[in-house]
Amino acid sequence: GLYLDRIAALNPTLNAFISVDRDKTLAEARAADALRAAGQAGPLTGVPIAHKDIFCQQGWKTSCGSKMLDNFVSPYDAHVIEQCRAAGLVTLGRTNMDEFAMGSSNENSFYGPVKNPWDLAAIPGGSSGGSAAAVAARLAPIATGTDTGGSIRQPASHCGVTGIKPTYGVVSRYGMVAYASSLDQGGPLAQTAEDCALLLNVMAGFDQRDSTSLERAKEDYSRDLNAPLSGLKIGLPREYFAEGLSADVAGVVDGAIAELKKLGAEVVEISLPNTQLSIPAYYVIAPAEASTNLSRYDGVRYGHRAAEYKDLVDMYEKTRAEGFGAEVKRRIMVGTYVLSHGYYDAYYLKAQKIRRLIANDFKAAFEQCDVILGPVAPTAAFNIGEKSDDPVQMYLSDIYTLSVNLAGLPGMSVPAGFAANGRPVGLQIIGNYFGEAKMLNVAHQFQ
Ligand code: GLN
Repeated sequence: GLYLDRIAALNPTLNAFISVDRDKTLAEARAADALRAAGQAGPLTGVPIAHKDIFCQQGWKTSCGSKMLDNFVSPYDAHVIEQCRAAGLVTLGRTNMDEFAMGSSNENSFYGPVKNPWDLAAIPGGSSGGSAAAVAARLAPIATGTDTGGSIRQPASHCGVTGIKPTYGVVSRYGMVAYASSLDQGGPLAQTAEDCALLLNVMAGFDQRDSTSLERAKEDYSRDLNAPLSGLKIGLPREYFAEGLSADVAGVVDGAIAELKKLGAEVVEISLPNTQLSIPAYYVIAPAEASTNLSRYDGVRYGHRAAEYKDLVDMYEKTRAEGFGAEVKRRIMVGTYVLSHGYYDAYYLKAQKIRRLIANDFKAAFEQCDVILGPVAPTAAFNIGEKSDDPVQMYLSDIYTLSVNLAGLPGMSVPAGFAANGRPVGLQIIGNYFGEAKMLNVAHQFQ
Protein backbone atom coordinates (compact mmCIF):
# COMPACT_ATOMS: atom_id res chain seq x y z
CA GLY A 1 0.00 0.00 0.00
CA LEU A 2 2.73 2.44 1.00
CA TYR A 3 4.68 1.90 -2.20
CA LEU A 4 1.55 1.99 -4.39
CA ASP A 5 0.68 5.35 -2.83
CA ARG A 6 4.17 6.70 -3.47
CA ILE A 7 3.97 5.50 -7.08
CA ALA A 8 0.58 7.19 -7.52
CA ALA A 9 1.98 10.43 -6.11
CA LEU A 10 5.41 10.53 -7.80
CA ASN A 11 5.21 8.52 -11.00
CA PRO A 12 3.43 11.26 -12.97
CA THR A 13 6.63 13.30 -12.48
CA LEU A 14 9.26 10.57 -12.77
CA ASN A 15 7.65 8.32 -15.44
CA ALA A 16 9.50 5.35 -13.93
CA PHE A 17 6.61 2.91 -14.42
CA ILE A 18 4.85 1.97 -17.65
CA SER A 19 2.18 -0.16 -15.95
CA VAL A 20 0.79 -0.33 -12.44
CA ASP A 21 -2.25 -2.37 -11.45
CA ARG A 22 -3.33 -2.09 -7.83
CA ASP A 23 -5.65 -5.11 -7.98
CA LYS A 24 -2.98 -7.38 -9.40
CA THR A 25 -0.47 -6.20 -6.81
CA LEU A 26 -2.88 -6.78 -3.94
CA ALA A 27 -3.72 -10.25 -5.29
CA GLU A 28 -0.01 -11.10 -5.28
CA ALA A 29 0.29 -9.75 -1.74
CA ARG A 30 -2.48 -12.16 -0.69
CA ALA A 31 -0.64 -15.02 -2.41
CA ALA A 32 2.46 -14.09 -0.40
CA ASP A 33 0.38 -14.14 2.80
CA ALA A 34 -0.82 -17.62 1.86
CA LEU A 35 2.78 -18.79 1.37
CA ARG A 36 3.59 -17.44 4.80
CA ALA A 37 0.54 -19.10 6.35
CA ALA A 38 1.59 -22.39 4.76
CA GLY A 39 5.01 -22.07 6.39
CA GLN A 40 6.67 -21.67 2.98
CA ALA A 41 7.91 -18.11 3.38
CA GLY A 42 11.46 -17.26 2.29
CA PRO A 43 13.56 -14.25 3.26
CA LEU A 44 11.83 -12.06 0.63
CA THR A 45 8.24 -13.27 0.89
CA GLY A 46 5.88 -10.30 0.77
CA VAL A 47 8.60 -7.86 -0.32
CA PRO A 48 7.45 -5.62 -3.19
CA ILE A 49 9.45 -5.54 -6.42
CA ALA A 50 9.35 -3.57 -9.67
CA HIS A 51 10.05 -5.46 -12.89
CA LYS A 52 11.70 -4.01 -15.97
CA ASP A 53 9.15 -4.15 -18.79
CA ILE A 54 11.40 -6.59 -20.67
CA PHE A 55 10.53 -9.68 -18.59
CA CYS A 56 7.44 -11.50 -19.87
CA GLN A 57 4.92 -11.66 -17.05
CA GLN A 58 1.62 -13.44 -17.40
CA GLY A 59 -1.32 -11.04 -17.51
CA TRP A 60 0.87 -7.92 -17.63
CA LYS A 61 1.60 -5.79 -20.65
CA THR A 62 5.19 -6.53 -21.64
CA SER A 63 6.03 -3.64 -23.97
CA CYS A 64 9.84 -3.53 -23.80
CA GLY A 65 9.43 0.23 -24.12
CA SER A 66 8.18 -0.12 -27.70
CA LYS A 67 5.07 0.79 -29.63
CA MET A 68 5.60 -2.57 -31.34
CA LEU A 69 4.61 -4.40 -28.14
CA ASP A 70 2.24 -1.77 -26.70
CA ASN A 71 -0.69 -4.19 -27.16
CA PHE A 72 1.18 -7.31 -26.01
CA VAL A 73 -0.05 -8.91 -22.79
CA SER A 74 2.24 -11.82 -22.03
CA PRO A 75 0.62 -15.26 -21.82
CA TYR A 76 3.54 -16.67 -19.80
CA ASP A 77 6.17 -15.86 -17.18
CA ALA A 78 9.90 -15.43 -17.78
CA HIS A 79 12.08 -17.71 -15.65
CA VAL A 80 13.08 -14.69 -13.54
CA ILE A 81 9.40 -13.89 -12.92
CA GLU A 82 8.64 -17.52 -12.01
CA GLN A 83 11.48 -17.48 -9.48
CA CYS A 84 10.28 -14.18 -7.97
CA ARG A 85 6.74 -15.51 -7.74
CA ALA A 86 7.93 -18.70 -6.04
CA ALA A 87 9.88 -16.60 -3.52
CA GLY A 88 6.71 -14.65 -2.68
CA LEU A 89 7.83 -11.30 -4.10
CA VAL A 90 4.95 -8.94 -4.90
CA THR A 91 4.93 -7.09 -8.25
CA LEU A 92 4.43 -3.33 -7.87
CA GLY A 93 4.45 -2.67 -11.60
CA ARG A 94 6.49 -2.66 -14.75
CA THR A 95 9.27 -0.15 -15.20
CA ASN A 96 10.07 2.14 -18.10
CA MET A 97 13.10 1.48 -20.28
CA ASP A 98 14.77 2.40 -23.54
CA GLU A 99 12.99 0.73 -26.44
CA PHE A 100 14.19 -2.90 -26.67
CA ALA A 101 16.91 -1.94 -24.13
CA MET A 102 18.77 0.16 -26.68
CA GLY A 103 20.11 3.26 -25.04
CA SER A 104 22.14 4.83 -22.27
CA SER A 105 19.77 7.57 -21.16
CA ASN A 106 16.20 6.24 -21.19
CA GLU A 107 15.24 8.84 -23.77
CA ASN A 108 14.41 6.14 -26.35
CA SER A 109 11.21 4.86 -24.72
CA PHE A 110 7.91 4.97 -26.60
CA TYR A 111 6.45 6.02 -23.21
CA GLY A 112 8.66 9.07 -22.87
CA PRO A 113 11.86 9.71 -20.92
CA VAL A 114 12.31 8.78 -17.26
CA LYS A 115 13.45 11.60 -14.95
CA ASN A 116 16.31 11.23 -12.51
CA PRO A 117 14.88 11.56 -8.96
CA TRP A 118 18.03 13.42 -7.81
CA ASP A 119 17.59 16.13 -10.44
CA LEU A 120 14.60 16.17 -12.75
CA ALA A 121 16.65 17.81 -15.52
CA ALA A 122 19.00 14.81 -15.63
CA ILE A 123 18.70 11.48 -17.40
CA PRO A 124 18.43 8.47 -15.05
CA GLY A 125 20.69 6.41 -17.35
CA GLY A 126 19.54 3.56 -19.50
CA SER A 127 18.26 1.21 -20.41
CA SER A 128 17.00 0.05 -16.97
CA GLY A 129 16.36 3.70 -16.02
CA GLY A 130 12.82 3.11 -14.77
CA SER A 131 14.03 0.42 -12.36
CA ALA A 132 16.91 2.57 -11.08
CA ALA A 133 14.72 5.67 -10.68
CA ALA A 134 12.02 3.64 -8.90
CA VAL A 135 14.51 2.29 -6.35
CA ALA A 136 16.19 5.69 -5.91
CA ALA A 137 12.86 7.46 -5.29
CA ARG A 138 11.69 4.72 -2.90
CA LEU A 139 8.87 3.74 -5.25
CA ALA A 140 10.15 0.17 -4.87
CA PRO A 141 12.69 -1.38 -2.49
CA ILE A 142 14.15 -3.66 -5.17
CA ALA A 143 13.84 -4.06 -8.94
CA THR A 144 14.90 -6.24 -11.82
CA GLY A 145 16.94 -4.96 -14.75
CA THR A 146 18.92 -6.23 -17.70
CA ASP A 147 22.42 -5.35 -18.83
CA THR A 148 23.62 -5.92 -22.40
CA GLY A 149 26.31 -3.24 -22.37
CA GLY A 150 25.83 -1.44 -19.07
CA SER A 151 22.07 -1.08 -18.68
CA ILE A 152 22.00 -2.07 -15.00
CA ARG A 153 25.29 -0.54 -13.83
CA GLN A 154 25.00 2.78 -15.62
CA PRO A 155 21.51 3.79 -14.40
CA ALA A 156 22.41 2.45 -10.93
CA SER A 157 25.41 4.81 -10.96
CA HIS A 158 23.40 7.82 -12.17
CA CYS A 159 20.58 7.22 -9.67
CA GLY A 160 22.74 6.44 -6.64
CA VAL A 161 21.60 2.83 -6.20
CA THR A 162 23.34 -0.57 -6.33
CA GLY A 163 23.04 -2.91 -9.31
CA ILE A 164 24.65 -6.11 -10.55
CA LYS A 165 25.21 -7.58 -13.98
CA PRO A 166 25.95 -11.25 -13.21
CA THR A 167 28.29 -13.59 -15.08
CA TYR A 168 26.73 -14.45 -18.45
CA GLY A 169 24.59 -17.58 -18.01
CA VAL A 170 23.85 -17.20 -14.29
CA VAL A 171 20.36 -15.72 -14.82
CA SER A 172 18.12 -17.39 -17.40
CA ARG A 173 17.12 -15.35 -20.44
CA TYR A 174 13.95 -17.39 -20.95
CA GLY A 175 11.08 -14.93 -21.35
CA MET A 176 13.39 -11.90 -21.34
CA VAL A 177 12.78 -10.04 -24.60
CA ALA A 178 15.98 -10.57 -26.59
CA TYR A 179 18.18 -7.65 -27.63
CA ALA A 180 21.69 -9.10 -28.19
CA SER A 181 21.46 -12.67 -26.94
CA SER A 182 25.17 -13.32 -26.42
CA LEU A 183 25.43 -10.22 -24.17
CA ASP A 184 22.03 -9.91 -22.43
CA GLN A 185 21.93 -10.72 -18.74
CA GLY A 186 19.29 -10.00 -16.09
CA GLY A 187 20.21 -8.78 -12.63
CA PRO A 188 19.05 -6.96 -9.48
CA LEU A 189 18.89 -3.28 -8.49
CA ALA A 190 18.45 -2.21 -4.86
CA GLN A 191 19.66 0.34 -2.33
CA THR A 192 22.39 -1.91 -0.94
CA ALA A 193 24.70 -4.75 -1.92
CA GLU A 194 23.01 -6.91 0.71
CA ASP A 195 19.59 -6.47 -0.90
CA CYS A 196 21.10 -7.14 -4.33
CA ALA A 197 22.59 -10.38 -3.01
CA LEU A 198 19.22 -11.53 -1.68
CA LEU A 199 17.46 -10.73 -4.95
CA LEU A 200 20.22 -12.37 -6.99
CA ASN A 201 19.70 -15.50 -4.88
CA VAL A 202 16.13 -15.51 -6.22
CA MET A 203 16.90 -14.59 -9.85
CA ALA A 204 19.85 -16.91 -10.48
CA GLY A 205 19.57 -20.57 -11.31
CA PHE A 206 19.79 -23.15 -14.05
CA ASP A 207 16.95 -23.23 -16.56
CA GLN A 208 16.98 -25.73 -19.40
CA ARG A 209 14.83 -23.47 -21.59
CA ASP A 210 17.79 -21.11 -22.06
CA SER A 211 20.56 -22.97 -23.92
CA THR A 212 23.19 -20.63 -22.42
CA SER A 213 21.97 -21.05 -18.84
CA LEU A 214 24.75 -22.59 -16.76
CA GLU A 215 24.18 -25.75 -14.79
CA ARG A 216 25.81 -24.95 -11.48
CA ALA A 217 25.00 -25.61 -7.85
CA LYS A 218 22.83 -22.87 -6.25
CA GLU A 219 24.96 -20.50 -4.25
CA ASP A 220 24.20 -17.98 -1.53
CA TYR A 221 25.45 -14.66 -2.87
CA SER A 222 25.27 -13.11 0.60
CA ARG A 223 27.67 -15.61 2.14
CA ASP A 224 30.79 -13.41 2.03
CA LEU A 225 29.23 -10.00 2.73
CA ASN A 226 30.98 -9.66 6.06
CA ALA A 227 34.37 -11.11 5.13
CA PRO A 228 37.27 -8.74 5.93
CA LEU A 229 39.03 -7.10 2.97
CA SER A 230 42.58 -7.42 4.31
CA GLY A 231 44.86 -8.71 1.58
CA LEU A 232 42.31 -8.13 -1.19
CA LYS A 233 44.08 -7.24 -4.43
CA ILE A 234 42.36 -4.46 -6.36
CA GLY A 235 43.35 -3.98 -10.00
CA LEU A 236 43.14 -0.48 -11.43
CA PRO A 237 43.18 -0.50 -15.23
CA ARG A 238 45.49 2.21 -16.52
CA GLU A 239 43.18 2.72 -19.53
CA TYR A 240 40.19 3.59 -17.29
CA PHE A 241 41.93 6.53 -15.61
CA ALA A 242 42.99 8.28 -18.77
CA GLU A 243 41.65 10.85 -21.19
CA GLY A 244 37.87 11.11 -21.29
CA LEU A 245 37.24 10.58 -17.57
CA SER A 246 35.77 13.69 -15.92
CA ALA A 247 37.55 15.14 -12.90
CA ASP A 248 34.35 14.74 -10.86
CA VAL A 249 34.08 11.01 -11.43
CA ALA A 250 37.85 10.47 -11.09
CA GLY A 251 37.74 12.20 -7.69
CA VAL A 252 34.90 10.02 -6.42
CA VAL A 253 36.57 6.82 -7.62
CA ASP A 254 39.91 7.86 -6.05
CA GLY A 255 38.10 8.50 -2.78
CA ALA A 256 36.55 5.04 -2.90
CA ILE A 257 39.92 3.42 -3.53
CA ALA A 258 41.42 5.28 -0.56
CA GLU A 259 38.55 4.00 1.58
CA LEU A 260 39.11 0.41 0.48
CA LYS A 261 42.84 0.71 1.21
CA LYS A 262 41.95 1.74 4.77
CA LEU A 263 39.95 -1.48 4.98
CA GLY A 264 43.10 -3.45 4.14
CA ALA A 265 42.97 -3.78 0.35
CA GLU A 266 46.10 -3.52 -1.78
CA VAL A 267 46.19 -1.80 -5.15
CA VAL A 268 47.94 -3.03 -8.29
CA GLU A 269 48.04 -1.27 -11.62
CA ILE A 270 46.81 -3.45 -14.46
CA SER A 271 46.27 -2.95 -18.16
CA LEU A 272 43.26 -3.68 -20.36
CA PRO A 273 44.86 -2.59 -23.64
CA ASN A 274 41.86 -3.25 -25.90
CA THR A 275 39.40 -1.12 -23.89
CA GLN A 276 39.05 1.47 -26.68
CA LEU A 277 38.02 -1.25 -29.11
CA SER A 278 35.07 -2.31 -26.97
CA ILE A 279 32.91 0.47 -28.43
CA PRO A 280 33.28 -0.41 -32.12
CA ALA A 281 33.17 -4.15 -31.37
CA TYR A 282 30.03 -3.85 -29.25
CA TYR A 283 28.28 -1.51 -31.67
CA VAL A 284 28.80 -4.10 -34.42
CA ILE A 285 27.92 -7.26 -32.45
CA ALA A 286 24.92 -5.89 -30.52
CA PRO A 287 23.15 -4.42 -33.60
CA ALA A 288 23.94 -7.61 -35.59
CA GLU A 289 22.21 -9.76 -32.98
CA ALA A 290 19.44 -7.19 -32.56
CA SER A 291 18.69 -7.14 -36.28
CA THR A 292 18.07 -10.89 -36.26
CA ASN A 293 16.22 -10.94 -32.92
CA LEU A 294 13.91 -8.12 -34.00
CA SER A 295 13.01 -9.74 -37.32
CA ARG A 296 10.22 -11.58 -35.44
CA TYR A 297 8.19 -8.36 -35.12
CA ASP A 298 6.42 -8.64 -38.43
CA GLY A 299 2.82 -7.84 -37.53
CA VAL A 300 1.74 -11.44 -38.08
CA ARG A 301 1.83 -13.30 -34.78
CA TYR A 302 1.63 -10.65 -32.08
CA GLY A 303 2.36 -6.99 -31.42
CA HIS A 304 1.58 -3.99 -33.56
CA ARG A 305 0.13 -4.40 -37.06
CA ALA A 306 -0.42 -1.52 -39.48
CA ALA A 307 -4.10 -0.73 -39.94
CA GLU A 308 -4.05 -0.52 -43.73
CA TYR A 309 -1.88 -2.23 -46.30
CA LYS A 310 -1.96 -3.47 -49.92
CA ASP A 311 -0.28 -6.85 -49.57
CA LEU A 312 1.93 -8.88 -47.22
CA VAL A 313 5.17 -7.01 -47.94
CA ASP A 314 3.41 -3.68 -47.53
CA MET A 315 2.03 -4.94 -44.21
CA TYR A 316 5.54 -5.87 -42.97
CA GLU A 317 6.97 -2.55 -44.06
CA LYS A 318 4.26 -0.35 -42.61
CA THR A 319 4.14 -2.36 -39.38
CA ARG A 320 7.88 -2.05 -38.81
CA ALA A 321 8.03 1.58 -39.94
CA GLU A 322 5.29 2.49 -37.44
CA GLY A 323 6.23 0.13 -34.60
CA PHE A 324 9.94 0.84 -34.15
CA GLY A 325 11.49 4.08 -32.94
CA ALA A 326 14.47 5.86 -34.55
CA GLU A 327 17.26 4.27 -32.48
CA VAL A 328 15.90 0.74 -33.01
CA LYS A 329 15.73 1.35 -36.77
CA ARG A 330 19.31 2.63 -36.73
CA ARG A 331 20.48 -0.56 -34.98
CA ILE A 332 18.55 -2.80 -37.40
CA MET A 333 20.16 -1.04 -40.35
CA VAL A 334 23.67 -1.25 -38.88
CA GLY A 335 23.14 -4.89 -37.91
CA THR A 336 21.81 -5.90 -41.29
CA TYR A 337 24.71 -4.15 -42.99
CA VAL A 338 27.49 -5.74 -40.91
CA LEU A 339 26.02 -9.21 -41.43
CA SER A 340 25.51 -8.83 -45.16
CA HIS A 341 27.51 -10.74 -47.75
CA GLY A 342 30.78 -8.95 -48.53
CA TYR A 343 30.83 -7.02 -45.23
CA TYR A 344 30.54 -9.89 -42.76
CA ASP A 345 34.29 -10.61 -42.63
CA ALA A 346 35.27 -6.95 -42.43
CA TYR A 347 32.88 -6.05 -39.61
CA TYR A 348 31.15 -8.88 -37.80
CA LEU A 349 34.00 -11.40 -37.86
CA LYS A 350 36.53 -8.69 -36.97
CA ALA A 351 34.38 -7.63 -34.03
CA GLN A 352 34.22 -11.23 -32.80
CA LYS A 353 38.02 -11.40 -32.87
CA ILE A 354 38.25 -8.17 -30.86
CA ARG A 355 35.82 -9.70 -28.41
CA ARG A 356 38.25 -12.55 -27.82
CA LEU A 357 41.13 -10.09 -27.30
CA ILE A 358 39.08 -8.20 -24.72
CA ALA A 359 38.29 -11.41 -22.83
CA ASN A 360 42.00 -12.32 -22.91
CA ASP A 361 42.91 -8.90 -21.46
CA PHE A 362 40.70 -9.62 -18.45
CA LYS A 363 42.08 -13.13 -18.11
CA ALA A 364 45.62 -11.75 -17.83
CA ALA A 365 44.48 -9.00 -15.45
CA PHE A 366 42.80 -11.43 -13.06
CA GLU A 367 46.11 -13.25 -12.63
CA GLN A 368 47.24 -10.13 -10.76
CA CYS A 369 44.16 -9.15 -8.78
CA ASP A 370 40.88 -10.34 -7.19
CA VAL A 371 38.60 -7.54 -8.43
CA ILE A 372 38.96 -4.64 -10.84
CA LEU A 373 37.73 -1.18 -9.88
CA GLY A 374 36.96 1.81 -12.01
CA PRO A 375 34.31 4.30 -13.06
CA VAL A 376 30.93 3.24 -14.46
CA ALA A 377 30.54 6.17 -16.83
CA PRO A 378 32.85 9.04 -17.83
CA THR A 379 30.61 11.72 -16.29
CA ALA A 380 27.72 11.97 -13.86
CA ALA A 381 24.24 12.01 -15.44
CA PHE A 382 23.96 14.50 -18.29
CA ASN A 383 20.84 16.55 -19.04
CA ILE A 384 17.82 15.18 -20.83
CA GLY A 385 18.21 16.14 -24.50
CA GLU A 386 21.95 16.86 -24.24
CA LYS A 387 23.13 13.89 -26.34
CA SER A 388 19.94 12.68 -27.97
CA ASP A 389 20.83 14.10 -31.40
CA ASP A 390 24.29 12.55 -31.42
CA PRO A 391 24.28 8.74 -31.25
CA VAL A 392 28.08 8.48 -31.30
CA GLN A 393 28.43 10.72 -28.22
CA MET A 394 25.83 8.51 -26.55
CA TYR A 395 27.73 5.32 -27.46
CA LEU A 396 31.00 6.77 -26.10
CA SER A 397 29.46 7.01 -22.63
CA ASP A 398 29.45 3.18 -22.55
CA ILE A 399 33.26 2.90 -22.62
CA TYR A 400 33.67 1.44 -19.09
CA THR A 401 30.75 -0.99 -19.17
CA LEU A 402 30.73 -2.70 -22.60
CA SER A 403 33.86 -4.84 -22.24
CA VAL A 404 32.42 -6.64 -19.19
CA ASN A 405 29.53 -7.89 -21.35
CA LEU A 406 31.80 -8.74 -24.27
CA ALA A 407 33.88 -10.90 -21.89
CA GLY A 408 30.82 -12.35 -20.08
CA LEU A 409 32.14 -11.20 -16.70
CA PRO A 410 30.15 -9.97 -13.69
CA GLY A 411 30.18 -6.28 -12.84
CA MET A 412 28.37 -4.00 -10.46
CA SER A 413 27.85 -0.37 -9.55
CA VAL A 414 27.87 0.88 -5.96
CA PRO A 415 27.04 4.45 -4.90
CA ALA A 416 30.33 6.18 -4.11
CA GLY A 417 29.74 9.92 -3.99
CA PHE A 418 28.52 12.95 -5.89
CA ALA A 419 29.66 15.18 -8.73
CA ALA A 420 30.05 18.93 -8.18
CA ASN A 421 26.50 19.43 -9.49
CA GLY A 422 25.11 17.10 -6.81
CA ARG A 423 24.38 14.16 -9.11
CA PRO A 424 25.32 10.67 -7.87
CA VAL A 425 28.42 8.80 -9.03
CA GLY A 426 28.88 5.04 -8.78
CA LEU A 427 31.99 2.91 -8.41
CA GLN A 428 32.27 -0.06 -10.74
CA ILE A 429 33.48 -3.37 -9.36
CA ILE A 430 34.33 -6.04 -11.94
CA GLY A 431 34.73 -9.63 -10.77
CA ASN A 432 36.22 -12.73 -12.29
CA TYR A 433 33.81 -15.34 -13.69
CA PHE A 434 31.37 -16.35 -10.92
CA GLY A 435 32.95 -13.74 -8.65
CA GLU A 436 29.57 -12.26 -7.65
CA ALA A 437 29.99 -13.09 -3.96
CA LYS A 438 33.44 -11.47 -3.94
CA MET A 439 32.16 -8.29 -5.64
CA LEU A 440 29.26 -8.12 -3.18
CA ASN A 441 31.72 -8.55 -0.30
CA VAL A 442 33.75 -5.55 -1.51
CA ALA A 443 30.59 -3.50 -2.10
CA HIS A 444 29.10 -4.33 1.30
CA GLN A 445 32.32 -3.51 3.18
CA PHE A 446 32.56 -0.25 1.24
CA GLN A 447 28.94 0.68 1.96
N1 GLN B 1 23.90 1.59 -24.07
C1 GLN B 1 24.06 0.27 -24.60
C2 GLN B 1 23.20 0.11 -25.84
O1 GLN B 1 22.52 1.02 -26.17
C3 GLN B 1 23.73 -0.78 -23.57
C4 GLN B 1 22.30 -1.06 -23.41
C5 GLN B 1 22.03 -2.25 -22.54
O2 GLN B 1 22.87 -2.67 -21.75
N2 GLN B 1 20.85 -2.84 -22.72
O3 GLN B 1 23.21 -0.88 -26.50
